Amino acid sequence: MNKIIYMDNNATTSVAPEAFEAMKPFLTDQYFNPSSMYEAARRPAHAIAAARATIAACLGGVLPDEIVFTGCATESNNMAIFGAIRANRGRRHIITTAVEHPSVLEVCREAAREGCEVTFIGVNQQGEIDITEFIRALRPDTLLVTIMHANNETGVIFPVAELARLTKETDPGILFHTDATQTVGKLDVDLKGELSQVDMLSFSGHKLHAPKGVGSLFLRRGTACRPFLCGGHQERGLRAGTENVGHIVALAKACELAMAARADETRVAALRDRLQAQLCERIPWLEVNGAGAQRLPNTLNLACHSIEGEAILYQLDEYGICASSGSACTSGSLDPSHVLKAMKVPFTAMHGSVRFSLSRYTTAAEVDTLIEVFPGIVTRLRRLSPYWDAAAGRPQEGHS
Ligand code: PMP
Repeated sequence: MNKIIYMDNNATTSVAPEAFEAMKPFLTDQYFNPSSMYEAARRPAHAIAAARATIAACLGGVLPDEIVFTGCATESNNMAIFGAIRANRGRRHIITTAVEHPSVLEVCREAAREGCEVTFIGVNQQGEIDITEFIRALRPDTLLVTIMHANNETGVIFPVAELARLTKETDPGILFHTDATQTVGKLDVDLKGELSQVDMLSFSGHKLHAPKGVGSLFLRRGTACRPFLCGGHQERGLRAGTENVGHIVALAKACELAMAARADETRVAALRDRLQAQLCERIPWLEVNGAGAQRLPNTLNLACHSIEGEAILYQLDEYGICASSGSACTSGSLDPSHVLKAMKVPFTAMHGSVRFSLSRYTTAAEVDTLIEVFPGIVTRLRRLSPYWDAAAGRPQEGHS
């Protein structure tokens, strides 16, 4: 395969070589079940304990026991929401947003089918939440608030610390969960400091250079949450199933590496900012989705009026550039992204959105290639687009 330029790190990341090395022994000679009684099983058991302590430290110094290992963020989100519902039978109201990942949205819809009432808070055109609307949504029977830390499509960051504080000030009995899948490893996630009012927090290994197949739910001590997977006694009975030792070890290593690389974040942010500035200068009628909001330093979601996101991706692929579009092709019809729909992105741009997401492994040369290649792709596709000819009020070609 030719060398690729990987700009899709919000979808998944490469495994850090150090994380891969750390997990190897547990896939080879240290294969023992950590629950077994013999001496050989002690090393995997100790490795899990050490990983738990490392991750707890990376999240602001929480208690190791508050870290529950899962298979992925989807599982963590399911556990947090269904677990909260099962443990708090008296309350039936859930608050979430219209722009959550499907692993929260669909769980909330399922909860609604099972008798819960769900309020989906909207966002403005920048993808931001209205705090007044949020406060108004809190009710005496509210059981759970589940609001993501940062959006995977646009990178827009929600003020989760403030929302959690407002929730607890209104009623300390309401549980607060956040899906931090896109922020752990990218932003400070301090569950003893800024986020001390958060009861549950989900994240996933494969978004921060650990392998796929491991995630975690932070579950603050005393939080009423029932297990999602029942069976053996693993994870103190909160998540049954023989532990995925190697992946857990790799997750801890990846968290450690991400913490150590935080200084590199300004470099990633500078690369993203340069990419954004250069593309906006070179391409007419290009908009940045969520431009006015606080955003993740690695994410750039562009609205390319009058062309299809899928067509852009195919063209980028010709150059070996991997990115994502805001719409998913489902059952033959183009279904625009629920996030961009909620932001009321205009029709001509909603279908032409493309997301570039960088990582600490992204180089300046890769960004330069994208800056060179992308304007030509947009121009070519617009020439073929009937919408582009028809677009009223669009700037003439060559204008920025
Ligand atoms: N939440 C968010 C915000 C995500 O971006 C993703 C992955 N796209 C998930 C949850 C699901 O993560 P996983 O693949 O680990 O289940």
